[in-house]
Amino acid sequence: MSWEDGVRRVVPYVPGEQPKRADIIKLNTNECPYPPAPGVRRVLDEMDYGEFRLYPDPDSGVLVKALAGYYGVSEKQVFVGVGSDDVLAMAFLTFFNTGKPILFPDITYSFYDVWADLFRIPFEQIPLDEDFKIRTEDYLGRDCGGIVIANPNAPTGVALPLSEIERIVSANRDVVVIVDEAYVDFGGESALPLLKKYDNLLVVQTFSKSRAMAGMRIGYAFGREKLIGYLLDCRFSFNSYPMNRPALAAGVAALEDKAYFQEICGKIIKTRDRVEEALRELGFFFADSSTNFVFASHREVPAKEIFEMLKDKGIYARYFAKPRIDNYLRITIGTDVEMARLLEVLREYLGGRC
Ligand code: PMP
Repeated sequence: MSWEDGVRRVVPYVPGEQPKRADIIKLNTNECPYPPAPGVRRVLDEMDYGEFRLYPDPDSGVLVKALAGYYGVSEKQVFVGVGSDDVLAMAFLTFFNTGKPILFPDITYSFYDVWADLFRIPFEQIPLDEDFKIRTEDYLGRDCGGIVIANPNAPTGVALPLSEIERIVSANRDVVVIVDEAYVDFGGESALPLLKKYDNLLVVQTFSKSRAMAGMRIGYAFGREKLIGYLLDCRFSFNSYPMNRPALAAGVAALEDKAYFQEICGKIIKTRDRVEEALRELGFFFADSSTNFVFASHREVPAKEIFEMLKDKGIYARYFAKPRIDNYLRITIGTDVEMARLLEVLREYLGGRC
């Protein structure tokens, strides 16, 4: 017997590389290429650093209030966390305790199976169809411990219509259905309106993508009051002060500038649609993206080769050496200038290869 026999062993999630060099075109972790709303800078500049000696508000009151106001729900229906990773991890811990397998797609956010392993939750990965679409029928009439759907899905970029999400939520009233909407602001339909009808739904979103604040680590979730109450009980049994003072202030400031938020989302969508067209001309194929990234495969050149070539040229994309998707590249939508450089490098390389 050694101390190692008592260790909780897990195979950790591997996040995309964060390069040390500043001259990299970073298209590998779906960050926003634009800065946060100008008001964010203002509140951070004006912060009284003397306050940092005090713990932050354990209830994250100002941010919860701002989110409730922005999305038109009550404050008791809002939960916040240190990025949506924290929110999702707490939700897995809180809601998936029946011992029955939880269900999620075989190709989806690859943190889901890691949390399931960490918390010893059995799970079943349901194959997407050939076009990387979720087959709603696969999630109906199953005796399961819960369901997790990223909508739009990642890394595929494919969105499921709200009516399909509703079919899944309504057919599984005896378990919690988590809808992870990290990318919803780039073209998905939020399940938030379904809260009026269903008490078994948790809708999770983030400031990391459409609000340009991945570095601040702010995630949030909406659910009925009772469901959020259970989530808070687990949260406060784990960490009393998850959100730091700058994050709370910055989060509120970002929500106050709706026009800026709409402007940067609009810009990213426009760039994405243009880049999709150019990539198709270069011989790539992919499903239309409803997100701030494109998940693309080339008709002739292996994805891994393109990934390595781009890296050599200082352009980082994301490559997953996993079944079914090991010939795909996930490319985040950057600024127009960054995407022009990407397309130039691809044109040069593929022109010589094909
Ligand atoms: N859900 C999905 C589908 C994601 O792709 C990500 C980003 N890696 C997250 C959740 C977590 O993002 P964050 O913790 O930055 O909110």
